[in-house]
Amino acid sequence: MTDVYSSEKRSAVMRRVKGKDTSPELAVRKALTALGARYRLHRKDLPGRPDIVMPGRRLAVFVHGCFWHGHDCARGARVPKQNRDYWVGKVERNRARDDRSREALSALGWRVETIWECELKDAEALWKRLRTLLSSPAAGEVAQDALASRVDGGGQRPEVTSPIVGRASPIADISPVPGEDS
Ligand SMILES: [Zn+2]
Repeated sequence: MTDVYSSEKRSAVMRRVKGKDTSPELAVRKALTALGARYRLHRKDLPGRPDIVMPGRRLAVFVHGCFWHGHDCARGARVPKQNRDYWVGKVERNRARDDRSREALSALGWRVETIWECELKDAEALWKRLRTLLSSPAAGEVAQDALASRVDGGGQRPEVTSPIVGRASPIADISPVPGEDS
């Protein structure tokens, strides 16, 4: 195979091909850690091997490079002039595979979120999005809420000031953050 790339370009391409610990993914992981989330990485036993997985929440997160995964944005539309057909085909296959992975994960009961590289430019927006993701209740917490409302049925409020967190799930995704009571 003819080498059409300079070594610099090739190593950049190889970094993307390798697909692990790319900087967009690291940025998302850092934000999640700062928000107190616990997660697993690259679960090979799940369809599409999601970049970040929060098992207790049944939440799978993909962090996608815009070019590589064919995002509908300026960066995603940029195709190298050289070997254009090759790149277009490659990106199309990636998109098709991403679709299949999302469907398969949904069928298994996972919530699937895709975070695009271009979304990382706005740190504030990313932060808000991740907070929203984490604020939706995990399955165990929903069950506890239902139980609490049954206990509350007599009209008298139980003297419970703080919610019970994480007992129903062996893996608590959120560790308690001092100063926050949710
Ligand atoms: Zn994009």
